[in-house]
Amino acid sequence: MTGAAGGPVRAFLGLGSNLGDRARYLAKAVDRLGGPALRITRCSRVYESPPWGRPDQPPFLNQVLEARTTLSPHALLARCREVEHDLGRVRAERWGPRTIDVDILLYGDLVIQTPGLTVPHAEMRRRAFVLVPLHEIAPALRLSTGESVEALLAALPDRDAVRPAPGDGAPGAGGAGGSRSAPREGVR
Ligand code: AMP
Repeated sequence: MTGAAGGPVRAFLGLGSNLGDRARYLAKAVDRLGGPALRITRCSRVYESPPWGRPDQPPFLNQVLEARTTLSPHALLARCREVEHDLGRVRAERWGPRTIDVDILLYGDLVIQTPGLTVPHAEMRRRAFVLVPLHEIAPALRLSTGESVEALLAALPDRDAVRPAPGDGAPGAGGAGGSRSAPREGVR
């Protein structure tokens, strides 16, 4: 699968972790996702967000990646699943804690509605932990529906609950992992 001009397609991926060494799981996922068919071109900072779906679980770290890919949407999904599996994710309960979650948020302007894959991601419009990092790396982005990420984000009451993780570029924050203080371009 290639873009309209025959080149790679721009896709956005959302990462989340709320078990174990969360920052390390995110970093490992970025490392393992990247490759010749999936070039990661930009990474947001790492954000911390309250648990979603079920409140009785630890907070999440989240990050959004921009990539250029020659993989088809389903091959990209398979790649995401493979990385989750490699990093020890066990699919137990819906919305339960996980070492790593990798979702396809957007795949070019494509709209996909199949039983196993929905793009744009079905929940992304109402998830501040997706829209805050997405807006950081693509502030002018519009979905194929015409909705701007900026307007979607502005409509979310809980957007302030998503904050840069300690040590990841938060002004005045200390701690480990401060190397991702700005959107990184050309990662691999
Ligand atoms: P989750 O537990 O959030 O990782 O959801 C996993 C399931 O959602 C998988 O079985 C996928 O087939 C399905 N799914 C549907 N749309 C997407 C998408 N855009 N990105 C990732 N998983 C998706």
